[in-house]
Amino acid sequence: MRKPSAAGRAIALVFAVAGLACAQPAAAPPDRAGNRGGPNRGAPAQNFDAVEIQTLPAQGRVTMLVGAGGNITVQAGNDGILIVDTEYPQLSGKILAAIRKISDKPLHYIINTHYHGDHTAGNENLRKAGNTITGGNVQGDLGAEASEGAAVIAHNNVLERMSGAIGGQPATPQGTWPTDTFVGEEKKMWFNNEGIEIIHIPNAHTDGDSIVFFRKSDVISTGDLFVTTTYPIIDVAAGGTINGYLDGLQKIVDLIIPVYGQEGGTLVIPGHGRLCDLGDVLNYREMTTIIRDRIQDMIKKGMTLEQVKAAKPTFDYDPLYGTTTGFWTTDRFVEAVYQTLKK
Ligand SMILES: [Zn+2]
Repeated sequence: MRKPSAAGRAIALVFAVAGLACAQPAAAPPDRAGNRGGPNRGAPAQNFDAVEIQTLPAQGRVTMLVGAGGNITVQAGNDGILIVDTEYPQLSGKILAAIRKISDKPLHYIINTHYHGDHTAGNENLRKAGNTITGGNVQGDLGAEASEGAAVIAHNNVLERMSGAIGGQPATPQGTWPTDTFVGEEKKMWFNNEGIEIIHIPNAHTDGDSIVFFRKSDVISTGDLFVTTTYPIIDVAAGGTINGYLDGLQKIVDLIIPVYGQEGGTLVIPGHGRLCDLGDVLNYREMTTIIRDRIQDMIKKGMTLEQVKAAKPTFDYDPLYGTTTGFWTTDRFVEAVYQTLKK
């Protein structure tokens, strides 16, 4: 049941846009494959034809889909379907086919955990495949007749960044933008006989992160506030900070009720990587805390970024999370921690 997904590739200034993982320069035009962001800067171009969507039942009404971008969470029941994040548009057909194997009900809600393209670029395709609920009544049905499409719910900063209103990022296509935003700490909803909490964590991975807690199924979908494949990814240019990230990990830990002495209890679907439980999140939080504290101490001693890097504050965790290649290298992580602690 536990299978690593493709590592999330993203980059601070260019996290945003639809395209190949997060690793695209924001301003470039779509390439031949229609990927906004242009050539893939050294990383091999993804062959979306070869990607298979893996379906992993979590528990209760909740299922995890693993493809090439961020993990997708599906909650299904008599009221219809709700999903968290939408991956890449090139995979929308396969994602819909995987959803259809879970349920033939209409897709009513899409929740975005944050604005990065590997979690939101499929919004438009999937939104059009669904429809919204108005006044508690189901309107229309799956397909072209659905006038509005599914509602896309996110923290308001997700819309602000996708529309280019903040951050100076070029706008992503309007069809991918959230349609229903919230400000403040939380949005609550009831769907499929289950309370769902969309909890905003300020200035963590970005400035618009939410985790989604399915209270009855007892599953948390974390977006990139928790991943198993890399060091914490902190999009400093989009308001991310190491201390906010740790607050997010703490919030996830606080929501989890484990079954002591065995695996189980609350399950956690990370932004990238395998299905997890409390032990996984605790280990990740401990690693993040230790590295934060080390770099904090080095800053107190007056060390420069270069000196901090040379001191290798991550080295005992590098076999698990470190890399010198790809988008989120160990150096980039150390830089992001240093930068946001220095502020
Ligand atoms: Zn992300």
